[in-house]
Amino acid sequence: MIILLKPNPNESQLNYLIEWIKSLGLDLHESQGKMTKILGLVGDTSKIDMDLIKAMDIVEDVKRVQEPYKNVNRKFHPEDTVIDVNGVKIGGDSFAIIAGPCSVESEEQICAIAESVKKSGAKMLRGGAFKPRTSPYSFQGMGAEGIELLLKAKERTGLPIVSELMSLEQLPHFKEVDVIQIGARNMQNFELLKAMGKIDKPILLKRGLSSTIEELLMSAEYIMAGGNKNVILCERGIRTFETYTRNTMDISAIPVLKSLTHLPVIADPSHAIGISKYVKSMSLASAAAGADGLIIEVHNNPAKALCDGAQSLTPEAFLEVSTSVESVLKAVGNKKCS
Ligand code: PEP
Ligand code: MN
Repeated sequence: MIILLKPNPNESQLNYLIEWIKSLGLDLHESQGKMTKILGLVGDTSKIDMDLIKAMDIVEDVKRVQEPYKNVNRKFHPEDTVIDVNGVKIGGDSFAIIAGPCSVESEEQICAIAESVKKSGAKMLRGGAFKPRTSPYSFQGMGAEGIELLLKAKERTGLPIVSELMSLEQLPHFKEVDVIQIGARNMQNFELLKAMGKIDKPILLKRGLSSTIEELLMSAEYIMAGGNKNVILCERGIRTFETYTRNTMDISAIPVLKSLTHLPVIADPSHAIGISKYVKSMSLASAAAGADGLIIEVHNNPAKALCDGAQSLTPEAFLEVSTSVESVLKAVGNKKCS
């Protein structure tokens, strides 16, 4: 249920209303807009008499929220959430590009890529240290050492870093990681999501391989219900019957998510399409569809990459993508690269 208040509500009436809601054992989510305040009620609101609340002087309107997700729901929080990652903004008017290799492979590799993507417009550096691989015989990532190397690249370039956490035992290694990625395969690892709710770092939550938009939103709800409000959603392609591409990029999920939630929504064209020559088209389409950013795989030598080389852009191709994305953002006219 949401209660829309009139502008400048009388303070003692507002406190009375808030105390009454809390006394019913409901959680309260307050959202202050430019003009009005919204109170979001989370819990069993079935016994609340809506007319009683509507009759209060300070109340403009009361509505039941049908969707099972509350904290992430735009009805609870009409304004876009803007997440600040060490000065890099994502959401609202700010578009942010995250780029880097699928996996950290060596100090030379991650530092060279970090320097080149920074010059070409990336605002954050990605790099996997703990890798979720389909085969146990494939490269599993450098682990804790990979995080150390990412931190070196961060020190050299100033770029905030994004890396994937696969299990809670790995968390101590992520103290200085700026954004924790929860990958597609863990989108419904509910224990991991609950733990992400207890920390205050931004979480980049990727859509599961076969997850619906609502399932993605419910997973974000797990994190927010635990208290962490810094969640970035990511469309990274879903499984369909198509085999020419690695996954099917669900561009339609971008505007749908943007209308259902106030959280920033970014796109990962690399994993979505899986073939480097199409990454540019998918990046431009995502920007035009209203995404708040992109996460793109870039490798200095894609042919030799230990993971996902086929979808990785060279630094030159990445520069072309980021420049073209800026033109699309100008054309659609509502966002600027942060
Ligand atoms: C990745 O970002 O390298 C990755 C494994 O992504 P996803 O979870 O979307 O497959
Ligand atoms: Mn990858």
